[in-house]
Amino acid sequence: MAINNHRLIGLTGGIGTGKTTVANYLANAYKLPIFDADIYAREAVQPGSSILNNIAERYGADILAASGALNRQQLGNIIFNNPQEKYWLEQQIHPYVRDRFVEAIERLPLNSTAVLVVPLLFEANMTDLVTEIWVVFVDEQQQLNRLIERDELTLAQAKARINSQMSLQEKCNKADVVLDNSSTLEALLKQVDAAIKA
Ligand code: ATP
Repeated sequence: MAINNHRLIGLTGGIGTGKTTVANYLANAYKLPIFDADIYAREAVQPGSSILNNIAERYGADILAASGALNRQQLGNIIFNNPQEKYWLEQQIHPYVRDRFVEAIERLPLNSTAVLVVPLLFEANMTDLVTEIWVVFVDEQQQLNRLIERDELTLAQAKARINSQMSLQEKCNKADVVLDNSSTLEALLKQVDAAIKA
């Protein structure tokens, strides 16, 4: 894809490592446009969408709440430990998300800097959409603590979520910039300042 001299930062990391924290800072302090894969992925399965219809066809209308919205928890139960169904679902959603990113990039003025927040940047093979990759890292103990606190999880639930993802170390190995969020917010934001000025 033609990138038109844009600087496109692919911001990724593990669950609860601080992607949103970094994206909010880049939006507020640097006024950068932020494009968010999670928002597009939710939009993909809105009531009336062809993807939601495909999902309801495959799993039955019970996958929908009375309002017609997707019952995410039930879908999560189906795909958890079922790689084939997880793959099927991803083949529905990832191309939609990719298309939204491409559209958003095409609307940017020439020579823009923008941030793409993509939790599954590597897993969904979206690295070609960006010109540099930033990974937000935390040590595993901190990651567990923050997940347990934010999402009110047990230790076992937090561990299961972390272990279901590509290892954070592997993501760091593929990064252009690693932001270490193992200590204070201030320390994190200093690293962001350095990276954006690089
Ligand atoms: P997810 O993958 O679930 O979307 P995320 O990578 O976007 O998560 P955040 O939501 O930014 O991560 O951060 C996870 C939690 O950790 C939040 O509750 C956030 O307030 C907290 N947090 C982030 N950085 C720090 C820090 N340096 N010190 C303390 N708490 C932090």
